[in-house]
Formats: sequence, C-alpha cells, structure tokens
Amino acid sequence: MAEVAENLERVCDQIAKTAAKAGRSTDDIELVAITKTHPAEKVREATEAGQKLFGESRVQEARVKIPELPSNLRWHFVGHLQKNKIRNALPLFELFHSVDSIALAQEMNRIADEEGMHPRVLLEVNVAGEGSKFGFAPEKLRAEMESLLALPRLSILGLMTIPPLAEEAEASRKYFVELRELRDRLQTEFHVDLGQLSMGMTNDFPIAVEEGATLVRVGTAIFGERRRPKRRS
Ligand SMILES: *Cc1c(COP(=O)(O)O)cnc(C)c1O
Repeated sequence: MAEVAENLERVCDQIAKTAAKAGRSTDDIELVAITKTHPAEKVREATEAGQKLFGESRVQEARVKIPELPSNLRWHFVGHLQKNKIRNALPLFELFHSVDSIALAQEMNRIADEEGMHPRVLLEVNVAGEGSKFGFAPEKLRAEMESLLALPRLSILGLMTIPPLAEEAEASRKYFVELRELRDRLQTEFHVDLGQLSMGMTNDFPIAVEEGATLVRVGTAIFGERRRPKRRS
C-alpha cells in the first residue's frame, strides 16, 4: 500500500478506536486532512484512498492546488485569513475554521453580502491566552457573541482552537475541555447551536476525540513532515 494510504488508514483507525472507547459514534467525527505545503500529487494519493475532506491554511497556495484536483473534494480553510484574501477564499472553502476577530467576521460578512454568499464559519478561540496567537480570548468572545450572531451572512457553527505546542499530548487536554465548556456556556447563554468543535492535530488528535472534537485537523501523520514547517504560535 502507498505510504499516504497506509498513514490515512492508521489515523482513521485511531479515531475509530478512540471514539468507541469514549462511547462516541465515528460518524460524529470528521477527519480534515491538512495538505499545506504538500503538492497536489500527494493529495491525490489520499483521495485514491478514499479521503474527500481537506484543509489548507493559505489562500494563495489553495488557489493553485484546488483546481488541480478533482472537483468533488471538500475544502476547509484553517489558517489566519487576511482581509484582502477573503474574496478569493469564499468560493474555495465550504467551512472557515479560523475566524479569529470581530473585524474579520464583519469584513467576511460584508464581502459575502456583495458576492451573494453565506459562508459557514467556526470561531477560533485562544484558550491558553498566548500573546502571539490569533483567536478570541474566551471572555472577549462572550462579550462579542451578540454582535457576531447578528452578522446575517455568516453561519456560525462552532469553535476551534490550537493549544500551545507541547511535548506531551496530554498537555492539550485541559485546553480541549475548556473549549468544550466555553461552547456549552455560549450555547446556553445565547440560545445557539455550536455543534462543531475543531480541535486536535497530529500530536494530540486522540485526546481531542476523547474530549468531544467533531473535526480533527491532521497533516503530518498523513502526509509526513512539511519541508518548511510553519510555526504555529
Ligand atoms: C498545519 C495545521 C494543522 C496540521 O498540523 P499537523 O501537526 O501537521 O497535524 C492543523 N491545524 C492548523 C490550523 C494548521 O495550520
């Protein structure tokens, strides 16, 4: 079996086993295969192994790569979205994981209105409060939730987080729990359905599955090391 296919099978297996142990249905967890820095041929290997859902973190790169691949694939955007890239990004992605400020949300809403689109989004939360990282501080999100929900063009489907880099996967657990609990509080307080929790990457996705992730974003474990790894924090 090709390496990507083998890796994919291993990751899917691990998701299934962890879900079963946690008493969750695998149907409630989607694997987003993160293809950033990897060429279209490598993505094609994953599609041949049955993977249909992929994630990119740069609009420029995605604009080249996505048209090279079959049109029946689904693409999610997981990186920091610059305002001047919104218009190009909107038609490419079915979900934006990483709306990380009210200003970005407002600009997406404005451009989506001009384009006649209704983007589906998650709100990125900086749970650990790392100064260098994008995302809403939890208290700030509560304060701005009303304004976010009032943006008529955006469908807000849930929350996303990237925990601090750590050696031990277990170190991520408390941040995943915090994201889930924040989600629960927001749902109660604002009477909204925030069903999607995007959390978990190569080093900690099984922990994320245990803590309620509905979308796990895995790159390295499927496609191997990236040549120029982008710092995450
Ligand atoms: C690159 C990236 C991932 C995948 O990271 P791996 O550690 O390679 O699995 C997940 N989420 C985001 C936001 C990323 O930028």
